[in-house]
Amino acid sequence: QRCPNCKFYVEKTVLVGDMGSGKTSLALRFVKGLFFDNQEPTVGAAFFTQLLSLPEATVKFDIWDTAGQERYHSLAPIYYRGAAAAIVVYDISSTDTFVKAEKWVEELQIHGSHKLVMALVANKSDLEPNREVETEEGEQFAHESGMFYIETSAKTGENINELFYEIAKRIAKAY
Ligand code: GDP
Ligand code: MG
Repeated sequence: QRCPNCKFYVEKTVLVGDMGSGKTSLALRFVKGLFFDNQEPTVGAAFFTQLLSLPEATVKFDIWDTAGQERYHSLAPIYYRGAAAAIVVYDISSTDTFVKAEKWVEELQIHGSHKLVMALVANKSDLEPNREVETEEGEQFAHESGMFYIETSAKTGENINELFYEIAKRIAKAY
């Protein structure tokens, strides 16, 4: 439902991070409330859209999921164009994906808008027993890079809505 006096924003959001970190699962959980243990690797790019209501505004998220670009930590210019937010995903049970996240942040800082809202997402929080990347490491990196930090699980749904609320709030504030 949209209130008549609410503002309406369309927010292009790009989803980046290493292969297997859970980008597609995150989007699918947010948009459809679904999760698959055997999520098929994304081919090329995928596109999701979802409305989210804040007290003063409704935000339509246009989510650009990526695949295949992971290896090069770089995106085609069309991804950056007009993007309001970027979600950088890693898997807490894999140090390697955290290292890749750092590469993505560098890339976004070079090519993204200087107003880009950036989220560092430590995904797979349900895999706590296999954790390789400590919360403090993620938080510190996010802080140094001007991002906000959140731990999510696409599997249990933990903090998925919170992630997008936080992005929506930060974008709305920037207007
Ligand atoms: P992508 O390559 O970044 O798009 O990653 P996918 O969304 O395809 O996920 C890769 C694998 O990780 C799949 O087997 C998913 O089921 C699994 N996965 C994704 N998110 C989570 C999570 O939060 N917890 C757990 N345990 N597995 C996850
Ligand atoms: Mg994918």
